[in-house]
Amino acid sequence: MTSVARFLNDSRLRNRKDQPWVDTQIQSMLEIPVYIGQIRWKDEVYPGMHLPLVSKTTFEEVQSIFANAEFKKKSSRTTALFQKILICGECHSGMTTSFSYNRSKTRYEYYRCVSTTKAEVETSTCSLKYRPQITLETQFFQSLHHLCRSETLNPIKAKLTTHNRHITDQLQIIQSQATACDSQLADIKVQRSKYLDALIMNDFLSEERQLIRTQIQTLETESRQLQSQLSHFRLEISQLEERHVHFDQFKSQIIQLLDLHQQQNAAQLQYFLPRIINTLTLFINQWTIQFHLLPWPIDLPISPDPRNSQ
Ligand SMILES: [Zn+2]
Repeated sequence: MTSVARFLNDSRLRNRKDQPWVDTQIQSMLEIPVYIGQIRWKDEVYPGMHLPLVSKTTFEEVQSIFANAEFKKKSSRTTALFQKILICGECHSGMTTSFSYNRSKTRYEYYRCVSTTKAEVETSTCSLKYRPQITLETQFFQSLHHLCRSETLNPIKAKLTTHNRHITDQLQIIQSQATACDSQLADIKVQRSKYLDALIMNDFLSEERQLIRTQIQTLETESRQLQSQLSHFRLEISQLEERHVHFDQFKSQIIQLLDLHQQQNAAQLQYFLPRIINTLTLFINQWTIQFHLLPWPIDLPISPDPRNSQ
């Protein structure tokens, strides 16, 4: 479900509320009986008037996966913040949350590179393997503070200005092409109207009338081609406008994450982190963060593990 949501978001497809997709929405959608031609009304399911999109067998197979104990265990809630976004930079596997008990029987939570949980655990060449959850999360927010320093933030701002300027330049070119297209269409309309006047006044011989009709047809073909060009330009314009990044919006997102961390609001952080950060790749000394808003990833140093620095 996470990968379906990611696929939709990567394809720049939004949900009905024009928001990025999250995995829980995908699950709720897959549980709606509407897709097999039924409707739910006050906890009862009735046959609907519409045609099913999905076969009943497929639908039931999916429901049995959701009912599976293993699936429920996997999607059960944890306090971990990075469960949907953390990637091991050493071997490019995902990192999941795990826990064990230490000698004093205290629960100990950590992020674990998926490559070490597979059958070939001995052959795993990954050197990251696992990291304690709380330490890693603390280190991440320390790195976010590092991002807020002007020497880190200013180059990002400068790069964004160049990026936005490039988009504005492209937009201007396409907009002028669209305007040219528009005025050509207007000319054709005037021309066609003149030909129609000539036909309606009926001052011409039949050969001449035939010639005028051919001219009108040519104009109509041209007009259709221009219309399709114009809609192509409009699509390009809206796609370019979407790529425009507002630096203030980026800053607000960082502030929001830092505020929530300061308030120790884990539930809100679990909600917002995957909406602000697409992937968080962990290397030995560095994070590579791909923000949803930014067109390129940001590298940030990882501050030393506080437990080792004593
Ligand atoms: Zn790994």
